[in-house]
Amino acid sequence: MLQLPPHLILEVTSRCNYHCPFCYCVWHEFPELAKPELDTTAWEDILRECATRGIQDFLFTGGEATLRQDIWHLLEFAHNLMPSARLAIFTNGSRMTEEKLLWCKNQKICLSTSLQGLRTYAIQTGTRRTYAKTLSFIARAAEMDWPADVSITVNKTNRHEIADMVAATVLSRAKSIQIGPVMLEGKARNHPELAFSHDEWEAVKAEINALPDGGIPRWFVDEMLCECRLQPKKLVKSFGGNESRPCTAGKTFGVIGPSGYFRKCLHTVENIEWR
Ligand code: SF4
Repeated sequence: MLQLPPHLILEVTSRCNYHCPFCYCVWHEFPELAKPELDTTAWEDILRECATRGIQDFLFTGGEATLRQDIWHLLEFAHNLMPSARLAIFTNGSRMTEEKLLWCKNQKICLSTSLQGLRTYAIQTGTRRTYAKTLSFIARAAEMDWPADVSITVNKTNRHEIADMVAATVLSRAKSIQIGPVMLEGKARNHPELAFSHDEWEAVKAEINALPDGGIPRWFVDEMLCECRLQPKKLVKSFGGNESRPCTAGKTFGVIGPSGYFRKCLHTVENIEWR
């Protein structure tokens, strides 16, 4: 039986109402990894098994987790099963309501979201939406004293407005900001034009570091290629100079995908039986 890491990312669905060209979800490359999508009972069984094994840290994500009708039930189920566990939901925010925000706060479900762009929001998400709902979600969560962690993926499309994106996230009073370059995994594998070289990424970081932090913690994720996958030499060469750190995927955290199998990390493409 596989030993599970202490933090689990639960990809409860592969469906998403956005179509971000930089999406790293592996099923854009290998659709079979996400099939079949599990029903409510199967996820309850997974949560029970995790509880038995003492896991106390879960992030519910997708795809877009809120596309599941039963997501709120599953969160409540996990909360009742493991009252001391840290539970979080990662959502693009498009379907969040005032009522759901308040519910998350009352159930102590931590919030995470992403800001894909400002003027580029529609092209970044493949929708006709604007950034307005995402920023108001972040701001309203902060007003409720239950602020959201925010992730920003920088690519060649939103590069020119990254300073504005960081400023808008700070002004909306995010809890924290995580900023990383597009990774050439998932759908992004077909969009190498979005990626930075190592030097270009360092220039982005320098620009962001010159901005006031507004008292909100922020950090960079420097990973441009997943170390858990065998990568084409050509890609490795173009990202040369990346100071990679020892990868803790599969040790400190891991993923249970939409079909209930374990993967070492979000980008790796091997489904592992864990029960
Ligand atoms: S990056 Fe997130 S919001 Fe965008 S398509 Fe992928 S899962 Fe959906």
